[in-house]
Amino acid sequence: MLWILISSFFIWCAFREIRASFVAPPGFDSPRPVYKPYLASVLALAVVFAWPTIHRWSFEHFLSVKATELADNHRATVHCNTVFDTMLDPEMLAAGHASPWTGKIGIQHPWCNRLMSYLRHPQRASEEELWSLAMFTHESMHVRGEMNEAITECEAVQRNYRAAKLLGVPPAIARRNALDYYNLLYKPRGQWGTMQAAYYSDQCAPGKAMDEHLSDSTWATDLAAIP
Ligand SMILES: [Zn+2]
Repeated sequence: MLWILISSFFIWCAFREIRASFVAPPGFDSPRPVYKPYLASVLALAVVFAWPTIHRWSFEHFLSVKATELADNHRATVHCNTVFDTMLDPEMLAAGHASPWTGKIGIQHPWCNRLMSYLRHPQRASEEELWSLAMFTHESMHVRGEMNEAITECEAVQRNYRAAKLLGVPPAIARRNALDYYNLLYKPRGQWGTMQAAYYSDQCAPGKAMDEHLSDSTWATDLAAIP
């Protein structure tokens, strides 16, 4: 919001400059021509300061549309918290949180940035970037209606492939990323202590109790059938 306020100040400077070419400013007898270098400078500064916020708003809108689709059309609204938002968030210790009642998904700073960088180069996703994809899918599953963490996480594991594709990742890379998350990051969680164990179940595996048998599941073996 601070950036938008600064941007607004520069827009006001531009407005004042243009207005002075129609109405005589205080201390002048008549209107004066626009000083073009000044006008161009303040307009450029207005854009520079507004850009991070506009970029975040458009990413939030993009994520909201995709999260709604992942949540089987339960309406989701994604908010990427700034550092300031995160400090004021009662759930600041969780990287993300969501409510199935309101559809609101809060993603803490800097996890939206990590998700953005994942989408810029999914073919060389880091561990943190894979976490950011999985967190986005996980929170979408809460909006879909599940609150049990182990079930929610397993629903996400099975849909990370679908989620990555929805976000624009090419299918072959999306599948590799989703499988990497399952094999390298999800499976070890059972041994990481009680906090992480709440998100893990040994029943979250192909053919086990939590397998939803989705046609486009991350772990579906019939590659030809995957859309
Ligand atoms: Zn959760």
